[in-house]
Amino acid sequence: MQVKTIIEPFKIKSVEPIHMSTEAEREQYLKTAHFNPFLLKSEQVIIDMLTDSGTSAMSSEQWAAMMRGDESYAGAKSWERLYDAVFDLTSMQYVLPTHQGRAAERILYGHLGGKGKVFISNTHFDTTRANIEFSGAEAFDIPIDEGKNHTVFHPFKGNMNVIKLEELILKHGADNIGAVILTVTNNSGGGQPVSMQNAKDVAAICKKYKVLFVLDCCRIAENAYYIKHREAEYKNHSYKKIAQEMFALADAAVMSAKKDALVNMGGFLTLRNEQLAEACTNLLIITEGFATYGGLSGRDMEALAVGLVEVFDDAYLNYRIKSTEYLGEKIREKGVPVMYPIGGHAVYIDAASMYAHIPLHEYPGQAMVCELYRLGGIRCVEVGSVMFGKYDADGKLIPANMELVRLAIPRRVYTQSHIDYVIEVFDEMMKTRNTVKGYKITKEAKLLRHFTAHFEKLQ
Ligand SMILES: *Cc1c(COP(=O)(O)O)cnc(C)c1O
Repeated sequence: MQVKTIIEPFKIKSVEPIHMSTEAEREQYLKTAHFNPFLLKSEQVIIDMLTDSGTSAMSSEQWAAMMRGDESYAGAKSWERLYDAVFDLTSMQYVLPTHQGRAAERILYGHLGGKGKVFISNTHFDTTRANIEFSGAEAFDIPIDEGKNHTVFHPFKGNMNVIKLEELILKHGADNIGAVILTVTNNSGGGQPVSMQNAKDVAAICKKYKVLFVLDCCRIAENAYYIKHREAEYKNHSYKKIAQEMFALADAAVMSAKKDALVNMGGFLTLRNEQLAEACTNLLIITEGFATYGGLSGRDMEALAVGLVEVFDDAYLNYRIKSTEYLGEKIREKGVPVMYPIGGHAVYIDAASMYAHIPLHEYPGQAMVCELYRLGGIRCVEVGSVMFGKYDADGKLIPANMELVRLAIPRRVYTQSHIDYVIEVFDEMMKTRNTVKGYKITKEAKLLRHFTAHFEKLQ
């Protein structure tokens, strides 16, 4: 018999209690946190969907491997295990371990960047863009047009526009291109996947113009799921084989292991070119650590090596993608305006259309994250004008392109009943949507204000 119910493909060995709170308590917590969920204590949260980064539950095999951690300064056995796992996947000879993804980005893009250099991506993740711009270089995002429409289905909305890619290379001159970066899945674009065909096309153009092709691979396993199920040619390939094929197309890769390597901290940079690897290794040693541990302890490298294998497990990936889709589809049925199709690691909601009565300068996305917390103790993040808004010369808000709210799903952490709880909270969210009020900012930092801003509820 073929049982259709998809279950969590793991048993729970160690549990972390959730502190249940009442709506009245949460109203108080929210006030104390100045209506900014980043300022809540985690124990005040029932379901934490702030991010999928570094929030995975590790397996018993990962914890066991940590006990094997070899903390030798140089040439540790744990380093060999990490190297083998990364080489097996990427086929790239040079591997540089870093404490997280942005450290790998700073090393590579700091070295390749500088004034006059140009980087091109399907969409630069915010730390990627920050490291490129910090070096003095420029970063261009060229997603395909379908990627910008959030209501129609397209199997690979994360794809890069390869016509624009060639135009940009010709316009700026191949010598001035720092790198072409393909982010899989496209995080900032809603966790949408990139097809193998698109990766092949990007690789061919990079080869033609002798431009470095970098894979930002932090969700490579989730991306492989979509290739297997949406790109006919790959339906009989294993997820790992698909990932290996994609890596084979690239010259370099950066990974935040806090995503698909199922660890709480870690990352790496891999390269094929010897000279580039030497230059990057020098930078690694200056700011991260010696070449055989970089920014990681031996036990971290062990957990990472195991996580890179576990993430390609069929049952795991099936559960992972289906459970994200389950949340997205169920709230979509209730009329919640979600970005469509649902991506791999998060569900994005269009707060501007959910709360059409709240003007953008009163931050409908912030109103929504506060409501989700107040009604259900669910913590998530605004990805809209609080995060990306700017002011004009008269102090008037220049809103972001979209007012989104992101419900990110930590890996292997929540069960279906947790997700059903979130879905139920949306019944009340929909019922009360017209009574929700906007917010004003009462205190903010110049940079990355969303982390620390204070808000006041408007009457
Ligand atoms: C998280 C992330 C990064 C940065 O990694 P950190 O580990 O947070 O430093 C880079 N690129 C993408 C696509 C990411 O999702």
